[in-house]
Amino acid sequence: MRQNLVAGNWKMNMTYQDGLALVSEITSMVADEVTAANAPQVVICPPFPLLHAIGRLLPQGSRFHLGAQNCHHKESGAFTGEVSAKMLASVGCEYVILGHSERRQYFREDDELLSQKLKAALAAGLKPIFCVGESLDTREADETFNFIGKQLQDGLFHLSNEEFDQVTIAYEPIWAIGTGKTASSAQAQEVHAFIRERIARAYDAKAALNTTILYGGSANAQNARELFSQPDVDGGLIGGASLKSRDFTDIIKSF
Ligand code: PEP
Repeated sequence: MRQNLVAGNWKMNMTYQDGLALVSEITSMVADEVTAANAPQVVICPPFPLLHAIGRLLPQGSRFHLGAQNCHHKESGAFTGEVSAKMLASVGCEYVILGHSERRQYFREDDELLSQKLKAALAAGLKPIFCVGESLDTREADETFNFIGKQLQDGLFHLSNEEFDQVTIAYEPIWAIGTGKTASSAQAQEVHAFIRERIARAYDAKAALNTTILYGGSANAQNARELFSQPDVDGGLIGGASLKSRDFTDIIKSF
């Protein structure tokens, strides 16, 4: 279902105590300040050890949801140090980020592995937030659309219509992540429209219209309103600015 949505990706930040304090601040600021009818759903994606406790702090039945930043592609077994999708669901996760560029780059996650992770997440009842995005070299070589088209085709479009219904896509240009360089709203809109067109080709027009597509990459309280006002931008996947309650709340208010 297409919806306005803001997800905070905490990455490998926050101790247990700091994380609990941050989420308490965010939930109380949002309760006091967020009233707009079109205000977004909010997904908080802390590191694994914080998930359960933070989930318990999120008001039940509210706009807040719990998400993880990754999962393993198998259901269980001898995979020391790994966490399965089923475990995430058992501690209250509803969402899981998959295919983040940092996972692709530092942990060599490729489209084949991500396809398996998507299946594992969906089998456990999780909603994947699937990330795509090009490097600066790819953009400068004018290959952005080819590159993202291939990421979608190889990583995502193997899903059935019913499975694809559960997926949110995040467009995250790698050159904008954590760099302070945001894509212009026109650049973001152009890629989001392209993604929607590819969904229509792979599935159908209804699926394209119903898919939530987020922008990520140095989004902040100053630029969020302009980005979120684009017709094909349904919200944001927020890294750095999700670690500050004031900034994150202001982003949530940017619809
Ligand atoms: C991210 O890592 O998903 C991200 C968008 O980070 P930042 O907002 O810090 O650029």
